[in-house]
Amino acid sequence: MIENFGTKASRDVLSLIERNGFEAVYVGGAVRDYLLGTIANDIDIATSALPAEIKEIFPHTIDVGIDHGTVLIVLKKESIEVTTYRTEGQYTDFRHPDAVAFVRNLREDLLRRDFTINAFALTLNGELIDLFDGKKDLSNKVIRAVGNPTERFKEDALRMVRAVRFSSTLDFTIETKTKTAIVENATQIQYVSVERIKTEMDKLFVGKNPVAAFSYIQETGLCKYLPLFPSSTKKLIATAPYQEPEVGWASLMIAGDFTPFAVVNAYKLSNAEKHFLLEVYDAYQNRREKLFTIDDYYRFDMSVLLLVENLNHCINPNGIYLTAINIERQKKSLPIQSYNDITISGKDLIEWTGESGGRWTSEWLSKIERAIVHGECENTVITIREWFLNEFKRER
Ligand code: ATP
Ligand code: MG
Repeated sequence: MIENFGTKASRDVLSLIERNGFEAVYVGGAVRDYLLGTIANDIDIATSALPAEIKEIFPHTIDVGIDHGTVLIVLKKESIEVTTYRTEGQYTDFRHPDAVAFVRNLREDLLRRDFTINAFALTLNGELIDLFDGKKDLSNKVIRAVGNPTERFKEDALRMVRAVRFSSTLDFTIETKTKTAIVENATQIQYVSVERIKTEMDKLFVGKNPVAAFSYIQETGLCKYLPLFPSSTKKLIATAPYQEPEVGWASLMIAGDFTPFAVVNAYKLSNAEKHFLLEVYDAYQNRREKLFTIDDYYRFDMSVLLLVENLNHCINPNGIYLTAINIERQKKSLPIQSYNDITISGKDLIEWTGESGGRWTSEWLSKIERAIVHGECENTVITIREWFLNEFKRER
Protein backbone atom coordinates (compact mmCIF):
# COMPACT_ATOMS: atom_id res chain seq x y z
CA MET A 1 0.00 0.00 0.00
CA ILE A 2 1.39 3.43 -0.91
CA GLU A 3 1.29 5.86 1.95
CA ASN A 4 3.25 8.82 0.77
CA PHE A 5 1.27 9.46 -2.38
CA GLY A 6 -1.94 11.45 -2.73
CA THR A 7 -4.17 12.39 0.17
CA LYS A 8 -5.82 9.91 2.52
CA ALA A 9 -9.18 10.79 0.93
CA SER A 10 -7.86 10.05 -2.57
CA ARG A 11 -6.55 6.67 -1.40
CA ASP A 12 -9.97 5.97 0.11
CA VAL A 13 -11.53 6.78 -3.27
CA LEU A 14 -9.25 4.29 -5.05
CA SER A 15 -9.89 1.65 -2.43
CA LEU A 16 -13.68 2.03 -2.55
CA ILE A 17 -13.77 1.86 -6.34
CA GLU A 18 -11.66 -1.31 -6.22
CA ARG A 19 -13.90 -2.88 -3.58
CA ASN A 20 -16.81 -2.32 -5.93
CA GLY A 21 -15.09 -4.44 -8.54
CA PHE A 22 -13.57 -1.76 -10.77
CA GLU A 23 -10.02 -0.57 -11.39
CA ALA A 24 -8.78 2.82 -10.21
CA VAL A 25 -5.26 4.19 -10.57
CA TYR A 26 -3.33 7.41 -10.21
CA VAL A 27 -2.26 8.75 -13.62
CA GLY A 28 -0.67 11.71 -15.33
CA GLY A 29 1.61 14.41 -14.01
CA ALA A 30 1.25 13.49 -10.35
CA VAL A 31 2.79 10.04 -10.90
CA ARG A 32 5.60 11.59 -12.95
CA ASP A 33 6.28 14.14 -10.22
CA TYR A 34 6.19 11.43 -7.55
CA LEU A 35 8.88 9.47 -9.44
CA LEU A 36 10.90 12.68 -9.74
CA GLY A 37 10.59 13.24 -6.00
CA THR A 38 8.64 16.49 -6.36
CA ILE A 39 5.18 17.34 -5.15
CA ALA A 40 2.44 17.55 -7.76
CA ASN A 41 -0.04 20.41 -7.82
CA ASP A 42 -2.97 18.26 -8.88
CA ILE A 43 -3.76 14.56 -8.80
CA ASP A 44 -5.56 12.69 -11.55
CA ILE A 45 -7.33 9.40 -10.99
CA ALA A 46 -8.48 7.15 -13.83
CA THR A 47 -10.98 4.34 -13.47
CA SER A 48 -12.59 1.53 -15.43
CA ALA A 49 -15.94 2.47 -13.85
CA LEU A 50 -18.32 4.54 -15.96
CA PRO A 51 -19.45 7.92 -14.59
CA ALA A 52 -22.85 6.46 -13.67
CA GLU A 53 -21.13 3.63 -11.78
CA ILE A 54 -18.96 6.11 -9.85
CA LYS A 55 -22.11 8.01 -8.91
CA GLU A 56 -23.64 4.85 -7.51
CA ILE A 57 -20.59 4.20 -5.31
CA PHE A 58 -20.24 7.73 -3.87
CA PRO A 59 -23.17 9.63 -2.37
CA HIS A 60 -21.68 13.11 -3.01
CA THR A 61 -20.54 13.80 -6.55
CA ILE A 62 -20.58 16.74 -8.95
CA ASP A 63 -20.71 16.38 -12.72
CA VAL A 64 -17.81 18.59 -13.73
CA GLY A 65 -17.11 17.11 -17.15
CA ILE A 66 -19.36 14.15 -17.47
CA ASP A 67 -19.20 14.13 -21.29
CA HIS A 68 -15.46 13.51 -20.97
CA GLY A 69 -16.01 11.03 -18.16
CA THR A 70 -14.95 13.28 -15.29
CA VAL A 71 -16.83 13.25 -11.99
CA LEU A 72 -15.87 15.16 -8.87
CA ILE A 73 -16.22 13.10 -5.71
CA VAL A 74 -16.67 14.97 -2.46
CA LEU A 75 -15.26 12.91 0.40
CA LYS A 76 -14.21 14.05 3.88
CA LYS A 77 -14.43 17.70 2.78
CA GLU A 78 -12.01 17.02 -0.06
CA SER A 79 -12.96 16.99 -3.71
CA ILE A 80 -11.32 14.38 -5.88
CA GLU A 81 -11.61 14.16 -9.65
CA VAL A 82 -12.04 10.76 -11.22
CA THR A 83 -12.08 10.18 -15.00
CA THR A 84 -13.26 7.05 -16.76
CA TYR A 85 -10.68 5.31 -18.98
CA ARG A 86 -11.23 6.65 -22.46
CA THR A 87 -9.85 6.77 -25.95
CA GLU A 88 -10.23 9.63 -28.30
CA GLY A 89 -11.65 8.91 -31.74
CA GLN A 90 -10.79 10.48 -35.07
CA TYR A 91 -9.45 14.02 -35.10
CA THR A 92 -10.42 16.08 -38.09
CA ASP A 93 -9.58 19.58 -36.90
CA PHE A 94 -6.26 19.20 -35.04
CA ARG A 95 -7.82 19.99 -31.68
CA HIS A 96 -11.00 18.10 -30.82
CA PRO A 97 -11.47 14.39 -30.91
CA ASP A 98 -14.66 13.72 -32.86
CA ALA A 99 -15.78 11.35 -30.16
CA VAL A 100 -14.67 10.33 -26.70
CA ALA A 101 -15.21 6.65 -26.11
CA PHE A 102 -15.16 5.15 -22.63
CA VAL A 103 -13.20 1.92 -22.38
CA ARG A 104 -12.57 -0.67 -19.66
CA ASN A 105 -8.92 -1.09 -20.52
CA LEU A 106 -6.18 1.00 -18.88
CA ARG A 107 -3.74 0.45 -21.76
CA GLU A 108 -6.03 2.27 -24.16
CA ASP A 109 -6.31 5.19 -21.78
CA LEU A 110 -2.54 5.42 -21.43
CA LEU A 111 -2.10 5.23 -25.21
CA ARG A 112 -4.03 8.49 -25.70
CA ARG A 113 -1.71 10.41 -23.36
CA ASP A 114 0.80 12.83 -24.82
CA PHE A 115 4.28 11.90 -23.57
CA THR A 116 5.84 8.75 -22.13
CA ILE A 117 6.63 10.57 -18.88
CA ASN A 118 2.93 11.52 -18.58
CA ALA A 119 1.63 8.04 -19.30
CA PHE A 120 2.40 6.19 -16.08
CA ALA A 121 -0.22 4.66 -13.85
CA LEU A 122 0.28 3.90 -10.16
CA THR A 123 -1.92 1.46 -8.27
CA LEU A 124 -2.93 1.69 -4.65
CA ASN A 125 -0.56 -1.15 -3.74
CA GLY A 126 2.33 0.77 -5.25
CA GLU A 127 2.70 -1.00 -8.59
CA LEU A 128 3.96 1.27 -11.34
CA ILE A 129 2.55 0.64 -14.80
CA ASP A 130 4.97 1.92 -17.40
CA LEU A 131 3.96 0.70 -20.86
CA PHE A 132 6.12 3.06 -22.92
CA ASP A 133 9.48 3.08 -21.13
CA GLY A 134 8.64 6.35 -19.47
CA LYS A 135 10.99 5.59 -16.57
CA LYS A 136 13.94 5.49 -18.92
CA ASP A 137 12.92 8.81 -20.46
CA LEU A 138 12.45 10.24 -17.02
CA SER A 139 15.98 9.32 -15.99
CA ASN A 140 17.37 10.63 -19.29
CA LYS A 141 15.27 13.79 -18.89
CA VAL A 142 13.60 13.36 -22.25
CA ILE A 143 10.17 14.38 -23.57
CA ARG A 144 9.04 11.75 -26.06
CA ALA A 145 5.61 11.40 -27.64
CA VAL A 146 3.65 8.22 -26.96
CA GLY A 147 3.55 6.43 -30.32
CA ASN A 148 4.09 8.27 -33.60
CA PRO A 149 4.76 11.95 -32.82
CA THR A 150 3.44 13.26 -36.14
CA GLU A 151 0.15 11.44 -35.68
CA ARG A 152 -0.09 12.60 -32.10
CA PHE A 153 0.47 16.25 -33.05
CA LYS A 154 -1.97 16.00 -35.93
CA GLU A 155 -4.58 14.68 -33.47
CA ASP A 156 -4.04 17.57 -31.08
CA ALA A 157 -1.64 20.36 -32.00
CA LEU A 158 -1.59 21.71 -28.43
CA ARG A 159 0.71 18.81 -27.57
CA MET A 160 3.52 20.66 -29.39
CA VAL A 161 3.22 23.60 -27.00
CA ARG A 162 2.94 21.14 -24.12
CA ALA A 163 6.23 19.51 -25.19
CA VAL A 164 7.85 22.92 -25.13
CA ARG A 165 6.35 23.88 -21.78
CA PHE A 166 7.58 20.63 -20.20
CA SER A 167 11.07 21.52 -21.47
CA SER A 168 10.74 24.53 -19.17
CA THR A 169 8.83 23.11 -16.19
CA LEU A 170 10.92 19.93 -15.97
CA ASP A 171 14.08 21.24 -17.63
CA PHE A 172 14.05 18.24 -20.00
CA THR A 173 15.06 18.04 -23.66
CA ILE A 174 12.67 17.12 -26.46
CA GLU A 175 13.60 13.83 -28.14
CA THR A 176 14.73 14.25 -31.77
CA LYS A 177 11.81 12.59 -33.59
CA THR A 178 9.34 14.40 -31.38
CA LYS A 179 11.10 17.69 -32.11
CA THR A 180 11.20 17.04 -35.85
CA ALA A 181 7.47 16.32 -35.77
CA ILE A 182 6.92 19.72 -34.13
CA VAL A 183 8.85 21.40 -36.95
CA GLU A 184 6.68 19.59 -39.50
CA ASN A 185 3.39 20.36 -37.79
CA ALA A 186 4.07 23.79 -36.24
CA THR A 187 1.59 25.52 -38.53
CA GLN A 188 -1.28 23.51 -37.02
CA ILE A 189 -0.97 25.41 -33.73
CA GLN A 190 -3.05 28.15 -35.40
CA TYR A 191 -6.14 26.01 -35.05
CA VAL A 192 -5.87 25.54 -31.29
CA SER A 193 -7.85 27.80 -28.97
CA VAL A 194 -5.78 30.55 -27.36
CA GLU A 195 -7.19 29.68 -23.94
CA ARG A 196 -5.51 26.26 -24.09
CA ILE A 197 -2.25 27.77 -25.34
CA LYS A 198 -2.28 30.41 -22.64
CA THR A 199 -2.63 27.83 -19.86
CA GLU A 200 0.52 26.11 -21.11
CA MET A 201 2.39 29.41 -21.61
CA ASP A 202 1.60 30.44 -18.02
CA LYS A 203 3.34 27.27 -16.83
CA LEU A 204 6.17 27.67 -19.33
CA PHE A 205 7.01 31.15 -18.03
CA VAL A 206 7.37 30.10 -14.40
CA GLY A 207 9.13 26.82 -15.16
CA LYS A 208 12.75 25.99 -14.34
CA ASN A 209 14.08 26.71 -17.81
CA PRO A 210 11.96 29.12 -19.86
CA VAL A 211 15.04 29.93 -21.93
CA ALA A 212 15.16 26.36 -23.26
CA ALA A 213 11.48 26.59 -24.14
CA PHE A 214 11.95 29.91 -25.97
CA SER A 215 14.78 28.38 -27.97
CA TYR A 216 12.59 25.41 -28.93
CA ILE A 217 9.77 27.74 -29.94
CA GLN A 218 12.12 29.57 -32.27
CA GLU A 219 13.97 26.50 -33.57
CA THR A 220 10.82 24.55 -34.39
CA GLY A 221 9.12 27.49 -36.09
CA LEU A 222 6.26 27.50 -33.55
CA CYS A 223 7.07 31.20 -33.09
CA LYS A 224 5.59 31.93 -36.52
CA TYR A 225 2.23 30.37 -35.78
CA LEU A 226 1.61 31.13 -32.10
CA PRO A 227 -0.96 33.92 -31.60
CA LEU A 228 1.87 36.42 -31.00
CA PHE A 229 5.55 35.85 -30.37
CA PRO A 230 8.71 37.94 -30.78
CA SER A 231 10.39 37.17 -34.10
CA SER A 232 13.72 36.95 -32.32
CA THR A 233 13.94 35.41 -28.86
CA LYS A 234 17.19 37.15 -27.95
CA LYS A 235 15.56 39.93 -25.92
CA LEU A 236 13.05 37.58 -24.36
CA ILE A 237 15.80 35.19 -23.30
CA ALA A 238 17.60 38.09 -21.64
CA THR A 239 14.62 38.79 -19.38
CA ALA A 240 14.14 35.27 -17.92
CA PRO A 241 13.48 33.76 -15.36
CA TYR A 242 10.09 34.90 -14.01
CA GLN A 243 8.43 34.54 -10.62
CA GLU A 244 4.89 35.01 -11.93
CA PRO A 245 3.23 34.29 -15.29
CA GLU A 246 2.25 37.96 -15.63
CA VAL A 247 5.91 38.92 -15.55
CA GLY A 248 6.48 36.52 -18.44
CA TRP A 249 3.67 38.13 -20.41
CA ALA A 250 5.06 41.60 -19.70
CA SER A 251 8.49 40.49 -20.89
CA LEU A 252 7.03 39.00 -24.06
CA MET A 253 5.31 42.35 -24.71
CA ILE A 254 8.50 44.39 -24.22
CA ALA A 255 10.82 41.95 -25.99
CA GLY A 256 8.50 41.74 -28.99
CA ASP A 257 7.81 45.50 -29.11
CA PHE A 258 4.09 44.73 -28.83
CA THR A 259 1.44 46.97 -27.29
CA PRO A 260 -0.37 45.73 -24.16
CA PHE A 261 -3.58 45.47 -26.22
CA ALA A 262 -1.93 43.26 -28.81
CA VAL A 263 -0.80 40.77 -26.15
CA VAL A 264 -4.04 40.93 -24.16
CA ASN A 265 -6.14 40.30 -27.27
CA ALA A 266 -3.92 37.64 -28.78
CA TYR A 267 -3.82 35.51 -25.62
CA LYS A 268 -7.05 36.64 -23.94
CA LEU A 269 -5.32 37.75 -20.76
CA SER A 270 -7.40 38.48 -17.65
CA ASN A 271 -8.30 42.01 -16.54
CA ALA A 272 -5.71 41.89 -13.76
CA GLU A 273 -3.04 40.86 -16.27
CA LYS A 274 -4.17 43.60 -18.66
CA HIS A 275 -3.87 46.21 -15.91
CA PHE A 276 -0.37 44.96 -15.06
CA LEU A 277 0.76 45.06 -18.70
CA LEU A 278 -0.56 48.60 -19.14
CA GLU A 279 1.44 49.77 -16.13
CA VAL A 280 4.62 48.01 -17.20
CA TYR A 281 4.23 49.42 -20.71
CA ASP A 282 3.85 53.03 -19.52
CA ALA A 283 6.68 52.73 -17.00
CA TYR A 284 8.94 51.13 -19.61
CA GLN A 285 8.29 53.87 -22.20
CA ASN A 286 9.23 56.48 -19.59
CA ARG A 287 12.29 54.64 -18.35
CA ARG A 288 13.57 53.97 -21.84
CA GLU A 289 13.74 57.66 -22.61
CA LYS A 290 15.24 58.79 -19.31
CA LEU A 291 15.53 57.86 -15.65
CA PHE A 292 12.29 57.47 -13.68
CA THR A 293 10.69 60.81 -12.86
CA ILE A 294 9.03 61.83 -9.58
CA ASP A 295 5.68 61.04 -11.21
CA ASP A 296 6.87 57.53 -12.09
CA TYR A 297 8.07 56.88 -8.53
CA TYR A 298 4.72 58.08 -7.24
CA ARG A 299 2.47 56.33 -9.76
CA PHE A 300 4.02 52.89 -10.00
CA ASP A 301 4.33 50.22 -7.32
CA MET A 302 7.76 49.06 -6.25
CA SER A 303 7.16 45.75 -8.07
CA VAL A 304 6.48 47.51 -11.39
CA LEU A 305 9.47 49.84 -10.97
CA LEU A 306 11.82 46.97 -10.15
CA LEU A 307 10.56 44.84 -13.01
CA VAL A 308 10.84 47.67 -15.53
CA GLU A 309 14.34 48.56 -14.34
CA ASN A 310 15.32 44.93 -14.74
CA LEU A 311 13.72 44.68 -18.19
CA ASN A 312 15.43 47.86 -19.28
CA HIS A 313 18.75 46.59 -18.01
CA CYS A 314 18.36 43.18 -19.69
CA ILE A 315 17.38 44.71 -23.01
CA ASN A 316 19.65 47.79 -22.91
CA PRO A 317 22.58 46.53 -20.80
CA ASN A 318 24.81 49.52 -21.51
CA GLY A 319 22.62 52.17 -19.90
CA ILE A 320 22.59 53.35 -16.28
CA TYR A 321 21.35 50.68 -13.89
CA LEU A 322 19.37 51.68 -10.81
CA THR A 323 19.71 49.27 -7.92
CA ALA A 324 16.68 48.12 -5.94
CA ILE A 325 17.93 50.07 -2.92
CA ASN A 326 18.25 53.19 -5.00
CA ILE A 327 14.72 52.84 -6.39
CA GLU A 328 13.28 52.13 -2.97
CA ARG A 329 15.05 55.13 -1.47
CA GLN A 330 13.70 57.41 -4.19
CA LYS A 331 10.19 56.12 -3.73
CA LYS A 332 10.28 56.33 0.06
CA SER A 333 11.59 59.88 -0.06
CA LEU A 334 8.40 61.12 -1.73
CA PRO A 335 6.38 63.37 0.62
CA ILE A 336 3.38 61.06 0.27
CA GLN A 337 2.98 57.51 -1.06
CA SER A 338 -0.66 57.73 -2.12
CA TYR A 339 -3.72 59.94 -2.30
CA ASN A 340 -4.88 58.64 1.08
CA ASP A 341 -1.84 60.18 2.76
CA ILE A 342 -3.03 63.76 2.03
CA THR A 343 -3.84 65.39 5.37
CA ILE A 344 -6.95 67.22 4.15
CA SER A 345 -10.11 66.17 2.33
CA GLY A 346 -12.75 67.63 0.03
CA LYS A 347 -14.73 68.68 3.10
CA ASP A 348 -11.92 71.04 4.12
CA LEU A 349 -11.96 72.65 0.67
CA ILE A 350 -15.71 73.27 0.97
CA GLU A 351 -15.28 74.73 4.45
CA TRP A 352 -12.36 76.99 3.42
CA THR A 353 -14.15 78.41 0.36
CA GLY A 354 -17.71 78.40 1.63
CA GLU A 355 -18.78 76.94 -1.71
CA SER A 356 -20.98 73.91 -2.16
CA GLY A 357 -19.43 70.58 -3.10
CA GLY A 358 -19.01 69.34 -6.65
CA ARG A 359 -16.55 68.00 -9.12
CA TRP A 360 -14.25 70.94 -8.47
CA THR A 361 -13.22 69.44 -5.11
CA SER A 362 -11.73 66.32 -6.64
CA GLU A 363 -10.04 68.39 -9.35
CA TRP A 364 -8.44 70.55 -6.68
CA LEU A 365 -7.48 67.56 -4.59
CA SER A 366 -5.57 66.25 -7.61
CA LYS A 367 -3.78 69.58 -7.98
CA ILE A 368 -2.93 69.55 -4.28
CA GLU A 369 -1.71 65.96 -4.55
CA ARG A 370 0.58 66.94 -7.41
CA ALA A 371 1.92 69.97 -5.57
CA ILE A 372 2.70 67.85 -2.50
CA VAL A 373 4.40 65.10 -4.53
CA HIS A 374 6.54 67.72 -6.31
CA GLY A 375 7.48 69.44 -3.05
CA GLU A 376 5.65 72.67 -3.89
CA CYS A 377 3.46 72.39 -0.83
CA GLU A 378 4.06 70.63 2.49
CA ASN A 379 1.57 67.95 3.52
CA THR A 380 0.23 69.82 6.58
CA VAL A 381 -3.22 71.35 6.98
CA ILE A 382 -1.86 74.89 7.44
CA THR A 383 0.41 74.84 4.39
CA ILE A 384 -2.11 73.16 2.17
CA ARG A 385 -4.74 75.70 3.22
CA GLU A 386 -2.48 78.61 2.41
CA TRP A 387 -1.30 77.12 -0.91
CA PHE A 388 -4.82 76.19 -1.94
CA LEU A 389 -6.49 79.54 -1.08
CA ASN A 390 -3.77 81.36 -2.96
CA GLU A 391 -4.08 79.25 -6.09
CA PHE A 392 -7.87 79.14 -5.86
CA LYS A 393 -8.11 82.94 -5.78
CA ARG A 394 -5.64 83.27 -8.61
CA GLU A 395 -7.74 81.04 -10.84
CA ARG A 396 -11.00 82.79 -10.06
P1 ATP B 1 1.20 19.62 -14.43
O1 ATP B 1 2.03 19.02 -13.37
O2 ATP B 1 1.76 20.87 -14.95
O3 ATP B 1 -0.26 19.69 -14.12
P2 ATP B 1 0.40 17.39 -16.05
O4 ATP B 1 1.22 16.37 -16.78
O5 ATP B 1 -0.38 16.91 -14.87
O6 ATP B 1 1.34 18.58 -15.68
P3 ATP B 1 -2.13 18.26 -17.07
O7 ATP B 1 -2.41 19.33 -18.07
O8 ATP B 1 -2.58 18.45 -15.68
O9 ATP B 1 -0.56 18.03 -17.12
O10 ATP B 1 -2.72 16.92 -17.67
C1 ATP B 1 -2.80 15.71 -16.92
C2 ATP B 1 -2.47 14.51 -17.79
O11 ATP B 1 -3.42 14.39 -18.84
C3 ATP B 1 -1.12 14.58 -18.49
O12 ATP B 1 -0.07 14.12 -17.66
C4 ATP B 1 -1.34 13.69 -19.70
O13 ATP B 1 -1.24 12.34 -19.37
C5 ATP B 1 -2.79 13.97 -20.05
N1 ATP B 1 -2.94 15.07 -21.03
C6 ATP B 1 -3.19 16.37 -20.77
N2 ATP B 1 -3.32 17.10 -21.89
C7 ATP B 1 -3.15 16.22 -22.91
C8 ATP B 1 -3.19 16.34 -24.33
N3 ATP B 1 -3.41 17.51 -24.92
N4 ATP B 1 -2.99 15.21 -25.06
C9 ATP B 1 -2.78 14.01 -24.47
N5 ATP B 1 -2.74 13.84 -23.15
C10 ATP B 1 -2.91 14.92 -22.37
MG1 MG C 1 -1.66 18.13 -13.78
